[in-house]
Parts: sequence; C-alpha cells; structure tokens
Amino acid sequence: MPLGARMIEVPFIPGDGIGPEIMDSARRVVDAALLKTCDNGPSILWRELAAGESSFKSGGEWLPKETVTSIARAGVALKGPLTTPVGGGVRSLNVALRQMLDLYASVRPLRHFEGVPSPVKCPSKVDMVIFRENTEDVYKGLEWRHGSEEARLVRDFLRDTFGVELTDDTGIGLKPMSERASKRLVRAAIRYAVARERNVVTLVHKGNIMKFTEGAFRDWGYEVALKEFPDTTCLGPGSDGLVPRDKVLINDRIADNMFQQILTRPSEYSVLAAPNLNGDYLADACAAQVGGLGFAPGMNMGDGVAVFEPVHGTAPKYAGKDVANPCAIILSSAMMLQHLGLGQAAGKIVAAVERTLGEGILTRDVAPSVDASRSVGTRRLAEEVVLRL
Ligand code: NAP
Repeated sequence: MPLGARMIEVPFIPGDGIGPEIMDSARRVVDAALLKTCDNGPSILWRELAAGESSFKSGGEWLPKETVTSIARAGVALKGPLTTPVGGGVRSLNVALRQMLDLYASVRPLRHFEGVPSPVKCPSKVDMVIFRENTEDVYKGLEWRHGSEEARLVRDFLRDTFGVELTDDTGIGLKPMSERASKRLVRAAIRYAVARERNVVTLVHKGNIMKFTEGAFRDWGYEVALKEFPDTTCLGPGSDGLVPRDKVLINDRIADNMFQQILTRPSEYSVLAAPNLNGDYLADACAAQVGGLGFAPGMNMGDGVAVFEPVHGTAPKYAGKDVANPCAIILSSAMMLQHLGLGQAAGKIVAAVERTLGEGILTRDVAPSVDASRSVGTRRLAEEVVLRL
C-alpha cells in the first residue's frame, strides 16, 4: 500500500458451502480495483468475522454476538451465504442477522450482461432495482399449525369477536404491515432513485384484494412521495402531458400485472418498491431473465448499516470444487464500494465483469448454453475480471 493511503476496515463473513471460494474471488477483485483506481487511494483492511458452520464447529456458536456488534460498529459488511441449520436453535442465520441489525430493505439490482444466456428474447431491457421490505408481511413468522391449541384460540377469538367462522382443520397466518415499515422502505427506494437518477419508482401491491395491508402500502408510499419529496418526485405527467425530466415519477402496479409487465414491458420500470412476499418473488423472476442467481447481487440495508451479499445460497454440492459463479458476490462488492463512496472503483469492477462475460468467459452454470464460450472455474473468472480492470 502506498505511504499515507487511507485504510477502510471492512468486516466480512466468508460463509458456508461455496462461500469461502467466492468471497476470496470478490476480495481479490476489490483489492485490485482499488489499486488500479488511483495512486494514493484508499485500500480495504479486511476483518474476518465468525458465523455459520465453521463458527459453530470451532466455538459452538452459529452467530456470535461479537459478529453482529462488529458489523453494527463498522456500518458495513460483505457476507457470503450461510447455511440455515436444520433442527432446533437459530431459525435462519440470515433472518437473525437482518432482525438484529434491523436491515429493513433488501435491495437487488438486476440487469443483463451481454454474453449471458437468458430465457427471454431481449434481456438487455431488464434494468431494475428491487426494494423489498424485509421485516414484516407474512414473513413475520406469525402462524399456527392446523389442529394446534394456538390455532383453536385464534379461531375462537375470530368467531367470538368478529363472527368469522373457520373450520377446525385450518392453519392460520397473520400478515402485519405497518405504516412505519412501509414508509421507510419506500423512502429508501425514492432516495435511491433520486441519487442514481432513475426516472420511475413503482409501488407494487395487491391492494385490490388486501386493502388494509397491501392497499395501505400503496397509500403510504404515495404519502411519502408527496410529503417528503415534493421537489424531486411527481405522480404523473404535467399539463404538457410529459413527465418533467428532473423528477422521479411515482406510480403503482397491482402485483399480478407487474409480473406480466416485467416480461412484456421491462424497459418501463426502473425501481420497484414492494412488500416482503411480492418483492421476494419479483426479485427471483427478474433474476431468471438476466441469467439466474449467479448474476444477482444484493444489499440488506438499515439506517446506518448495510450488509452486501449475493442473493444465492451456499450451493453445497459445489463447495470446494472451484466451479461456482462468483459474479453475484463480485457485483455485490461493487455495490459496497459505491456505498462507501468509492464509485470509481465500483464502476471499474462492473465494466470489467461486462467485458469478461461479453468475451464469452463464463462459469459452468451458464457456459454450456453459449456456443463459443470459454468455461472457467471460480478463481479463473475472478482473475479474468482483474485482467480487465
Ligand atoms: P442455493 O444455494 O442458492 O442453490 C440452488 C442452486 O442454484 C444450486 O444448486 C445451483 O444450481 C445454483 N447456484 C446458486 N448459486 C450458484 C453459484 N454461485 N454458481 C453456480 N450455481 C449456483 O439454494 P438452496 O440449495 O436452496 O440453499 C442451500 C443453502 O443455502 C441452504 O442452507 C439455505 O438456507 C442457504 N441459503 C442462504 C442464503 C443466504 O445466506 N443469503 C440464501 C439462500 C439460501 P444447479 O443445481 O442447477 O447447478
């Protein structure tokens, strides 16, 4: 490192399964990108944190408290995928981490890279950033098994209080959606669109059926735009029939229609803000259009803290084989650099990934469907990206 250069401490969790291999690739690319960006620029001081299977084997803890406090202190982390332990104990380490750090928005930018095979004709039209609410909706875990005492109590309450009759064989779940959680999610999506000059934020909901949850989400979303972003957003075209160029258009779509439109008119959408369940489905539906999970980066963000990670899991059957696609975590690390104010290095990484894939250098998850491609392993792909930085 050049004398006097700034060091930025970044905690990282290698993860389980393919995690350590793809994490090494991402760190290699980030370090090289920072070195090539400017002579006396910052570099990263990587600090490994324990979590997951290796942490459990060595110290008996799946998610040590120190790991969570270190991320909260640093305000940022790069994370590999973690296995969800089967059986008792922690329900999901990923969910636990999101809850402990209150990472309320899952942010997934999905765009196509030339050279990557896709099931649709014009994947280049997909360039969307999905903001998915991360803390409530049917994912809150409030549900009771059919036939249980808890389900009986809820059924009795519904019958005695509201006159609602449900049969004995009914399992029951709750779908809580609050004004606070909905508004902070939409606020983050609008802020992002304004900062990145994206021209439209679409509120996705199923408010025609679920009026007081999904419908309220839409109403709260418009309220945030009107009250908090009056100068930078608009709700429709002006008197000249045009949307002002310097404003972000806020519109909304019913979820089922949205699923159709991401296929039929993807270029009309840029930032989507959605409640938890629909956001989850939409993100994977968009990921499929751009080549699959191997190309889907992500960030889970709260106020003052952001954890960057690929959308995919640990793909255990590929662990240690040097075959996993590292693009999702490399692109997640580029998002992290952008977040840290190192946009130039982030741009270099994205451009180098573009060139690598565009030249037909692909991992085995996609290479077989592209004639004239060169199939390479995890490490080699990262080295090819480094060569093109
Ligand atoms: P997964 O690990 O994402 O893998 C599913 C399939 O996707 C793989 O078998 C492979 O497909 C493909 N794949 C995923 N990532 C890939 C990559 N980088 N390169 C090439 N192919 C890739 O999902 P899962 O099997 O449902 O979950 C496995 C474990 O991961 C579970 O313990 C789950 O809880 C955990 N998980 C963690 C996170 C997280 O930490 N955020 C997220 C999701 C899942 P093919 O078999 O077709 O080759």
